[in-house]
Amino acid sequence: MALVVPAEFVHLHVHSQYSLLDGALKIKDLASRAKALGMRAVALTDHGNMFGAIQHYKACKDAGVSAILGCEVNVARRRTGPGAEEAIDHLVLLASSEAGYRSLIRIVSEGHVSPVSSLAPSVSMDTIAAHNKGLIALTGCLGGVLAQRVLEQGEVEGRAELDRLRSVFEPGSLYVELQEHNLPEQPVVNGILTGMAADMGLPIVATNDVHFRDREDGESQLYLSCIAGGRSYAEASEAHHGSFEMFMKPPDEMAYLFRDRPEAIQNTMAIAERCAGLKLKLGSPMLPTFKLPPEFGRAETQLANGQVDDVVDRRELPARIAKVLGILERPSGMAPAPAVTWAQAGAERAANAARTLPDISRRIVSKVLRAEDEKAGR
Ligand SMILES: [Zn+2]
Ligand SMILES: [Zn+2]
Repeated sequence: MALVVPAEFVHLHVHSQYSLLDGALKIKDLASRAKALGMRAVALTDHGNMFGAIQHYKACKDAGVSAILGCEVNVARRRTGPGAEEAIDHLVLLASSEAGYRSLIRIVSEGHVSPVSSLAPSVSMDTIAAHNKGLIALTGCLGGVLAQRVLEQGEVEGRAELDRLRSVFEPGSLYVELQEHNLPEQPVVNGILTGMAADMGLPIVATNDVHFRDREDGESQLYLSCIAGGRSYAEASEAHHGSFEMFMKPPDEMAYLFRDRPEAIQNTMAIAERCAGLKLKLGSPMLPTFKLPPEFGRAETQLANGQVDDVVDRRELPARIAKVLGILERPSGMAPAPAVTWAQAGAERAANAARTLPDISRRIVSKVLRAEDEKAGR
C-alpha cells in the first residue's frame, strides 16, 4: 500500500484587514487558520504597510506557528519620457532576520513619508536596493513588477526586468512568484516566468494571493471593494473576474494546483525556514532618536540661562508653568482633567512647587514671578 504523505506548504502572500478595503481576513483568524491547516508558518504582506505586523507576530506566537513579516510594496514604475503615465507595480518583500525587519520598516516608512507616486504610498526600486539587507523578494502577482513587464512589453523586456531585479537583492534572495487563481492570463504568464527562472538559475515559488479566509468570504471581499471604489454591488459583480480563489487554500489544494512544479511548493518551506530566525523584542519601546534642529538647541540654552523672554511669550508663562508643574506633581490618583484645572490655579501654586524643583525650572519660575511683580509695580 502506497504511503500518502500530506503536502506541506506555507502561505507567503497574505492580505489582512490592514490592506484597507482590500482584505477581508482578520489577523487572529490568519494565525489560527494556518495552525488548523497544519502550516508551520504564515506570512503577512499587506499592501504598502506593516500596520498588522506586531499583532500578527503575537497571534502566531499564541497559535504556535512562526510569523513571517512582510509587505507587498508599491514600486513606482520608471518613467520613460516626458508625459509618461504614472503607474505602480507590486513586489512582495519578506524579512528573513532582524536586519530584514529593519530594512522593511525603512522602505515602508519611506513609501509613506516620501511617496514617489501620487497614486499610493510607494517607493522607487533604488530605495529598495539601498535597504536590501536581510530581505527576501517574491516578484509579485499579475500586477507585479515582473508580470506587468511581461504582459505589457513581452518576454524580452520581462527578462531584462528580472535581470535588474536580481541585482537589487542579496544573492539567492529573489524568487520568481507563480499564482494560479483560475484567471485566463495566469497559465500563460506562469509558463513564461518558469522558463525565465530556469534560464537565469532563479528559484520559483508558489503563492495564493490570499485576501480572505475561506472561499465563501469572497463575497465580503467584493462588498469591501464596493466601498473602496465607490460603486454599487451590481457594478462590482459585473466587473469582477468571477474568481473567488484568493483564500487560504489548504496545502493539498496548493500542491495539486502546482503538481507540475513541485519545487514551487517546496520552496515555500525553504523560505519559511530562512525567515524562522526573526525574533522581535517586544515590551520595550523603540523610540526614534531625533536630532534637534539648531534653533531648538538655542532655545534650550536660552531657557537654561533664564533668558525666557526670547523663547516664549511671557504672558503665557504662569498658566503654562503651573500646568506643567501641576501635572508633574498632581496628587496621585487624580485624573488628568481635574489635575489640569488644579494646576491652573496660577503662579502662586507654581512658586510653591518651584521650591522643590531642579535648578533650571526654579530659575524660569522665579523669572516669571519677577516679571509679574514688575508689571504689578511691586
Ligand atoms: Zn499584488
Ligand atoms: Zn497581493
